[in-house]
Amino acid sequence: MVVRTRIAPSPTGDPHVGTLYTAILNLAYAHHFGGQFILRIEDTDKTRSRPEYEKNIFEALKWGLIHWDEGPDIGGNFGPYRQSERLDIYQKHIQILLEKEKAYKCFATPEELREMREVAQKTGQKVGYDRRYRNLSKEEIKKREQEGQPYVIRLKVPLTGMCTFEDGIKGTITTPWADVDDQVLMKSDGYPTYHFANVVDDHLMQITHVIRGDEWISSTPKHILLYESFGWEKPSFLHIPLLLGKDGKKLSKRRNPTSIFFYKDSGYLPQALANFLTLMGYSMTGEKEIYSLQELIQNFDPQRIGKSGAFFDIQKLNWLNQKYIIETTTPSTLLEHLKRWQFNDIFMEKLMPLAHTRIKTFGDFFDLCNFFFINTIPLSTELLTPHNITPEISASLLQTMLWIMEKTDIWSQDAVEKASHDLAELFKVPHKKVVIPLLYEAIMGKQFGPPLFASIEILGKERARARLLQAIEFLGGLSKKKLDLLNKNFTKGDCSLLNH
Ligand code: GLU
Repeated sequence: MVVRTRIAPSPTGDPHVGTLYTAILNLAYAHHFGGQFILRIEDTDKTRSRPEYEKNIFEALKWGLIHWDEGPDIGGNFGPYRQSERLDIYQKHIQILLEKEKAYKCFATPEELREMREVAQKTGQKVGYDRRYRNLSKEEIKKREQEGQPYVIRLKVPLTGMCTFEDGIKGTITTPWADVDDQVLMKSDGYPTYHFANVVDDHLMQITHVIRGDEWISSTPKHILLYESFGWEKPSFLHIPLLLGKDGKKLSKRRNPTSIFFYKDSGYLPQALANFLTLMGYSMTGEKEIYSLQELIQNFDPQRIGKSGAFFDIQKLNWLNQKYIIETTTPSTLLEHLKRWQFNDIFMEKLMPLAHTRIKTFGDFFDLCNFFFINTIPLSTELLTPHNITPEISASLLQTMLWIMEKTDIWSQDAVEKASHDLAELFKVPHKKVVIPLLYEAIMGKQFGPPLFASIEILGKERARARLLQAIEFLGGLSKKKLDLLNKNFTKGDCSLLNH
């Protein structure tokens, strides 16, 4: 058997460190056993997928030293490797399931689904859909189709019994079928859902080992049922421990910098980041902590993948990165690294229009522009609470700024400027006296500096986001209750009450 593994990221956001972590273990597994490692793009979420996010996945993984044997950009014998180009394959396969009566058409309207969800919530049922269209007669289905009623196609999940599977890491996992929903496989617009496309592709691409984060464990019974419904051989499943933030929860972009580009822009070496991520889910023999991807591939032993989540400890990453700087660079090559990072003409030229009229001597340049190069911004509560706002309002403003930015996820000078005005409007606070000084302090750690919005664009989304998060944390953060209330007011479009 040729071992074939894959990662299957969805291009719906910034390239996540978790993708790099999963990629490393998949790559090590496949290459250790002389097999192939595949990159597949799962872009079936039409509203959230964007071509630039896909481009960023390629770029970020390559920066992280990951190379794939087959993928959308390089092709291979099992393509296409982008799900939006495989729609006819899913159509063909859903017909097979319908014919075998392993799946059925469901005509529930959004209104009906909402009611069902409410009932399920009230009665504490795990399954939200009450299966009311599961047993329609052939005539009834035909009639509804002729009337042009939209439908989805659902998986016929057994009503009783247990799903048991052997996970290569967690051991035996048993789930009562009664807890599993009749999963939608095909949406009414002819697009497959993740579950369906994922299983069809893993089968057709001859994936032998599905190695993914353990947040997917609860999806696996549905996948197993799909393999069985088609009569296909199942791959081995290995659910790897999640990366955890220091709060013990899944590493989330809402609380931590999770984009691979954040680490690139902050000046980490990809070798160190890759090594660090590996430590999160894997332990080398002899507790060896510093090793290259090549060493990992050579010595890889699936038995040594950890069972439970590991803390993403930035201090440890910093320690490791320093070791790599000491061991893999020399005083004479260090400058080359710094140049590749940000001490290059392309980056410096971006700063010149900001500095040109604002320095008395060249020596002032670094006073003015230091915040582009440093990672720890000196924060003060006094400067973060301009115009006598409370620390809590200040944190709420920063959090809301992040939410406004998330809507378009475009961090251009104009977009950030517009967001800052929207923010002032939402809270009914003066833009110039509150929002501007607050953002100056959070981003630059000072009251004045080069033009704010142009600086944020150059600093880049990842570092700017991280600084806003850091300032919120510095101000004491927002409790879950406060965050919920803030979110409610934000959705309503008026946060001014919070300000009194
Ligand atoms: N598209 C899923 C993701 O975004 C893939 C999960 C899997 O590996 O099955 O992570």
